[in-house]
Amino acid sequence: MRALILVRYGEIGLKGMNRRYFEKKFIKNIIMAVKHIEDAYVIDRHGRAYVDYNTKDHDEVIDIVTKIFGVVSISIAYKIDNDFELMKTEGLAEVKRQMLLTGATTFKVETKRANKGFPIKSPDICQKVGGYILSNVEGLKVDVNNPQITLTLEIREKTYIYCERIPGPGGMPYGTAGKGMLLLSGGIDSPVAAYLIGKRGVELEAVHFHSYPFTSDRALEKVIDLGKKLTQYTRNLKIHSVNILEIQKAINENCPSEEMTLLSRRFMMKIAEQLAVEQKCGCLITGENIGQVASQTMEGLTVTNNAVNMVVLRPLIAYDKVDIIKIAKQIDTFEISILPFEDCCTVFLPDRVVTRPKVDKIINSENLVNGEELIAQAIEQKKTYIISKGELLE
Ligand code: ATP
Ligand code: MG
Repeated sequence: MRALILVRYGEIGLKGMNRRYFEKKFIKNIIMAVKHIEDAYVIDRHGRAYVDYNTKDHDEVIDIVTKIFGVVSISIAYKIDNDFELMKTEGLAEVKRQMLLTGATTFKVETKRANKGFPIKSPDICQKVGGYILSNVEGLKVDVNNPQITLTLEIREKTYIYCERIPGPGGMPYGTAGKGMLLLSGGIDSPVAAYLIGKRGVELEAVHFHSYPFTSDRALEKVIDLGKKLTQYTRNLKIHSVNILEIQKAINENCPSEEMTLLSRRFMMKIAEQLAVEQKCGCLITGENIGQVASQTMEGLTVTNNAVNMVVLRPLIAYDKVDIIKIAKQIDTFEISILPFEDCCTVFLPDRVVTRPKVDKIINSENLVNGEELIAQAIEQKKTYIISKGELLE
């Protein structure tokens, strides 16, 4: 049997003059996402999209489509001929399926008769289909105001029958708001920041900093695994891996130890900015959050921000940790993030961290190392990994 996913989108439809551009990109993203599914095809109906597929791929298609940015909700519909008897029997079957799934006991029927050529009017269809279902299921009641099941019949060139609405992530189509360079650590926050910014349509590319051999290969593996999870939403992701050990050593030798964290952070920002320019990204993205750690005070953020000219997006700035964790679990990155592999920042971690740094003083310290040359070397030795739909490409 063939089923159909009915895809609803919200904000994209509000984009005024540019609406068609956003819609086209959205449809293209859906097409790319289901391309590998045998026989699946996407129908673009201005304001709605449909994914037609074979029911044997049910769960896979649902999983894919509910992770496409821009999707507000979907319904799984069954397509039948415009035959009134079929509407009754298939409507009944669908209500029974829902009762089994959810234990619901109340329902109503809704009809959308877009095809005015169909001879029976909507209220009559609702009444007759509803009556037929009622007389065939024990313990079921009609509730027109607050039903647990709403059986919808959409009559077009064919009739679509559906009950459930499954929520999608919402947001804007991926790739409609330029590209950004994400600073991806192995922690909980940065993958969540990536998700939130990607959801606004910004295409992502990532940079990870490590201090190999002080940090292990497992730390890199962890970041690649996080990247794989992100590609559930972004499809592809490029991760640049940059060794900053020489920079950290130079800071360690030449600068006050309590400034280590902030100085490394500034170097990370500078390297990320250079890569961003190279890769045609228009912003940097971090998982920074006000007050979460010693380096993320107002003054600390000023000092890191001041290292670059490019706009820095910090979507988590005002999130509580519990809310960040909730999203991390939802996007399935949490379990990976909490694996205990060393992040580069912990290698030369000082006993004390300045919490109210002054920009001038930090820049003076920074000038004690040969920054430009160290940065150029680090970038030259970067390694780039490409992940596509959960697989690392060689
Ligand atoms: P996270 O959970 O994302 O690691 P955090 O709470 O540990 O964040 P910090 O370690 O202070 O916070 O890092 C703040 C932000 O700086 C991170 O969210 C990330 O964007 C960036 N960052 C930190 N370390 C790295 C790294 N090794 N590579 C790339 N980016 C990093
Ligand atoms: Mg971290």
